[in-house]
Amino acid sequence: MENLIIIGTGCAGFSAATYTGRANLAPLILSGSQPGGQLTTTTEVENYPGFPEGIMGPELMMQMQQQSEKFGARVEYATVEKVEKADAGHFIVHIGEGNTKEAKTVIIATGASPRHLGLPNEKELIGHGLTSCATCDGAFYKDVPVAVIGGGDSAAEEATFLTRFASKVYLIHRRDELRASKIMADRVLSQEKVEPVWNAEVTEYVTDAEGEVCSIKLKDTVTGEDSELEVKCIFVAIGHVPNAKFLDGLVDTDDNGYILQQPLGTTKTNVEGLFASGDVADHVYRQAITAAGDGCRAALDAERYLADLEETSS
Ligand code: NAP
Repeated sequence: MENLIIIGTGCAGFSAATYTGRANLAPLILSGSQPGGQLTTTTEVENYPGFPEGIMGPELMMQMQQQSEKFGARVEYATVEKVEKADAGHFIVHIGEGNTKEAKTVIIATGASPRHLGLPNEKELIGHGLTSCATCDGAFYKDVPVAVIGGGDSAAEEATFLTRFASKVYLIHRRDELRASKIMADRVLSQEKVEPVWNAEVTEYVTDAEGEVCSIKLKDTVTGEDSELEVKCIFVAIGHVPNAKFLDGLVDTDDNGYILQQPLGTTKTNVEGLFASGDVADHVYRQAITAAGDGCRAALDAERYLADLEETSS
């Protein structure tokens, strides 16, 4: 029986592992198909405190892993298929092919994945002019034209933010009206640098000889007309998918599938002993540093839960 299993190896997971490792709980961290989480798909991270020269995303995650292992955390590669709470109060974590792990408490830190359009070269272009995070990558695209795809609050927010750097921001939306809240829609559409491109469906990401994005091909959904815009970077902002499906039926989520931390201000869930931290429970901030902070909160909540368990059993 493990004291604690942490599911997910992004910023929230490793931060929780370092804290609980230092509390002598020897946490077991289970890493799924994308070890290191979303930061492993970005290039340079310039806004993580403590790295004034910036640090490459994968390097930062490696350092977080090493830091947690220094305090006794163990990382195992296993895709979690299901988590169950046993009648005895502990958790059974199913990792496929009939194998299970058991723990007194579990922290879910599985993050969220940006939704993509599903175009053929999409995966290879991440980090080469295709991204889902303006806060992370916007500053790399100074005085050049960029495109944002989407019509929700994220797209409006990203496009508004990008006007600080880019020479022009095309806001490409598949309809002729934004889904974003009125205040955010008004704000983005009032920006001089923002040019909305309505009724436009993306048909191709075009790359130059170096394999970097250089333009985007579109089809007008009303007239059927094809067009092409020269851009140096494409920000895909068509929503995120929280990685919480494997918990179906066990924890309360909001309508978009994000785990509900309850009571608010804690990392507790409706299941006693099960904690949630980072992007899997946060559709608002979604930053490496906020996920790391949330991982710390989950660690402290889990530590207190284990201490209470020990007290009641002795
Ligand atoms: P969202 O509200 O679901 O919007 C997604 C947008 O992407 C929609 O405009 C949608 O088009 C478009 N889209 C989806 N699939 C597409 C596809 N295959 N091809 C082209 N376009 C596609 O997602 P979000 O903007 O990430 O927001 C998620 C939640 O977070 C919302 O509740 C939002 O209010 C919240 N949020 C809040 C803030 C804030 O308050 N500061 C900031 C960001 C997000 P259609 O409109 O045609 O469906």
